[in-house]
Amino acid sequence: MTDPIPAPESPTVPPVPESPEVPVVPEPSPDPVPRILREDEHPLRRDQICREALKVMDRLHNAGYKAYLCGGGVRDLLLGRQPKDFDVVTDARPEQIKRVVRNTRIIGRRFRLAHCIFGDVIIETATFRALLDTPPPDAENVPVPTRRRDDIPDPTFATRGGVIVRDNVYGTPSEDARRRDFTVNGLFYDPSDGTIIDYVGGLDDLHARVLRVIGDPTVRYHEDPVRMLRAIRIASQLDFEIEPAAREAIIQLAGELRNASRERMHEEMLKVMNCGASLSVFDRSWRKGLFQVIYPTLSRWLETPQGDAKGTPWVRKAFHQFDVWKKAGLKPMPALQYSLLFGALIEQRAAENEAAGAAPYVAAEQAVDATIRDAANLPQLPKAIMFDAERILGLQVQLKKAGPQSKYATRVRNRRGFQEALIYLKFAASLDPLRKPLLQRWL
Ligand code: ATP
Ligand code: MG
Repeated sequence: MTDPIPAPESPTVPPVPESPEVPVVPEPSPDPVPRILREDEHPLRRDQICREALKVMDRLHNAGYKAYLCGGGVRDLLLGRQPKDFDVVTDARPEQIKRVVRNTRIIGRRFRLAHCIFGDVIIETATFRALLDTPPPDAENVPVPTRRRDDIPDPTFATRGGVIVRDNVYGTPSEDARRRDFTVNGLFYDPSDGTIIDYVGGLDDLHARVLRVIGDPTVRYHEDPVRMLRAIRIASQLDFEIEPAAREAIIQLAGELRNASRERMHEEMLKVMNCGASLSVFDRSWRKGLFQVIYPTLSRWLETPQGDAKGTPWVRKAFHQFDVWKKAGLKPMPALQYSLLFGALIEQRAAENEAAGAAPYVAAEQAVDATIRDAANLPQLPKAIMFDAERILGLQVQLKKAGPQSKYATRVRNRRGFQEALIYLKFAASLDPLRKPLLQRWL
């Protein structure tokens, strides 16, 4: 008898996995592959970047780190515009940057930045940042140890999924690109090989002249409502269209701007007034209902028939004037800019106060205070700017009162803010012919 033919081996059935006792930790998704443009595929050239920024990047690169130009610098150079500043991003930690670039100061608590100082040029050098949830409010107050060593994890707290974690504020280049606000602001330039690195589709949007929020506009505006005003400012500056979803979301979420810090709103307002396209920012933000959230009292007046007739041309002309100054390379005092922005409403209120029996100077003073100290305005004016604006506007009464030849006039001329007061008068006279003789007398 022959041995029975062995039955064919039954296909091996993989063992049924036991339910794991330890929850499976998902693998971190691999870093996405960026689109890369070689040096001969784009117009950005090394020598367009300021020497100091190149020095920082070259030293970091020679020490074995990645170091890229990022943000508005890359965007503006690709568009053939002169950047306002050059920011650098690297995988070196702040202490490591300091070792490579000696003249470096480390600033910031929650996220530490290196300021590489070359005389009066400061190159802001940041370490690639992770995508994080908003850190808990007290994270800002976590003390930073004075002894800094590389092997100690950063004492920074941050949250991921609501859980407080340590030492994960630093991320990969792609994470750093994706935590930025708009795709055209998320491009990197690597001066060591001349490439542009695009993780977020910024190159296509730059080409199409579209400002697109990275990720879901509703989520990103909610995270940081100031991005709504940044969107309008940057689109106006570059003469770009805001992508429709990002535009709609501004109309929906405009009210959330009230959650922004009032100091930051002031900083952002200064950027608006000096961006060179502030009239367009005003018109666009008015249409979306955002300006009305920033300056509710002024806006309500502009919506009345009288305010619309007198105030709207004044406010639009003020923004236009800021753009003319910017084009001429002039840097006006912020107090003068705020005086012009609010001038029409202040004058209206002063006239009402006078009609109610107040003396001219008192009437003006009350109007100035009620308008620039109005707590409903989102931007919080620093005291120094407030005082200067009060001076410029108070001087208007004195200009009216004093004959330019009198002794009193000499005193007025020597007052701080006189030059600005005269510019204000010139501006007002350009809208109101009745003030031309007064201006002539003072010129
Ligand atoms: P400009 O300097 O011309 O006003 P910018 O784009 O360089 O424009 P900055 O305020 O200098 O603006 O910021 C530098 C970069 O930091 C931006 O390009 C953007 O990538 C990122 N950034 C700035 N503000 C935010 C924000 N609120 N949310 C996310 N990313 C931001
Ligand atoms: Mg910048």
